[in-house]
Amino acid sequence: MESPIVSVLGGGQLGRMLALAGIPLGLEFRFLDPSADATAGALGSLVVGDLGDRDALAEIARGATVVTYEWEGVPADGARAAAALAPVRPDPRALDVAQDRLDEKQTFERLGIDRARFQPVDDRSGLDEAVRATGLPAILKTRRGGYDGKGQRRLDQAADVAAVDGWDDPSIVEAVVLFDRELSVLAVRGLDGDTRCYPLVENEHRGGILRVSRAPAPELTADLQAAGEAIAAKLLDDLDYVGVLAVELFEHDGKLLANEIAPRVHNSGHWTIEGADTSQFENHLRAVLGWPLGSTAPRGHSAMVNCIGTMPERDAVLRIPGAHLHDYEKSPRAGRKLGHITVTAGTAEERDERLAEVVQIVP
Ligand code: AMP
Repeated sequence: MESPIVSVLGGGQLGRMLALAGIPLGLEFRFLDPSADATAGALGSLVVGDLGDRDALAEIARGATVVTYEWEGVPADGARAAAALAPVRPDPRALDVAQDRLDEKQTFERLGIDRARFQPVDDRSGLDEAVRATGLPAILKTRRGGYDGKGQRRLDQAADVAAVDGWDDPSIVEAVVLFDRELSVLAVRGLDGDTRCYPLVENEHRGGILRVSRAPAPELTADLQAAGEAIAAKLLDDLDYVGVLAVELFEHDGKLLANEIAPRVHNSGHWTIEGADTSQFENHLRAVLGWPLGSTAPRGHSAMVNCIGTMPERDAVLRIPGAHLHDYEKSPRAGRKLGHITVTAGTAEERDERLAEVVQIVP
């Protein structure tokens, strides 16, 4: 029997981990990436090309069982073009929403999902009025192209607004949320609409980049979990979504506000490889292939630490009980995600002890 072929737009670590989950299921992988040394290339065939390049897209989509993506920056039109040759899941509509902060916030608004106050800003001349509506402190964010804190400018006081000069990108201005913590919810929806949710994850960012996740989030109540699941379910149904979706959240006073969505497997779900019955990667593949979904139940308590810019010493990681090292085999560069470490434990206390050991050795 011929292996089903999964073609992935993007060949970074997320693509690599999709393949690591899918190969035991008998799947074959193809990746499209602009870089000839894309890390996922070690696990499947690699087409080197621009993600919007129609010829490259045709090459990777032709004969594929399904096309999916591991990066939300994939041009939605390119993904739509690939749909002429193979099913593309999730539907590229999710890319449109994720790529435009205004569309994203308006989707939250339309679905009755709480979010920070926001206002569109077409150019510099509209900024003062927008800030009057949201209040200060606020954050000016470009509608497109911003991620991991890029394309953002914080406005704490009137002088910061007055100092904004030459900001011509269509943007939104958003009230700063004085959140108690950042969380995310990862959910998966199958082709038949079956929907499952992982326990909410607590995330710590530094410099706009995720550093540490803990799952289940400490002191996660059934009400908070239900609130997160309700947000995910609204989005999944509205987008007729198939696959894993991540929603980044702020918790404030026991309430959840949605910040942004990622229509793909997500860094805050890496702990599921060792820490859940079925990893986010396997469940994404099951979903896009139309296969039955797996249990999203956690196995004990987990934490994940990103290795950014440099990798820790291997043996030091492996000596920590319950620690699992993931090296993406990428060349080191400042600010680059090179790997991650997951620790699993039977209790939250033990997890936090092991996490503290990992944090000590991660540069
Ligand atoms: P984003 O690019 O929207 O994910 O923002 C990156 C990070 O900036 C978030 O993870 C938060 O830590 C912070 N941030 C973004 N928007 C807000 C907001 N409205 N209020 C407070 N912090 C924010």
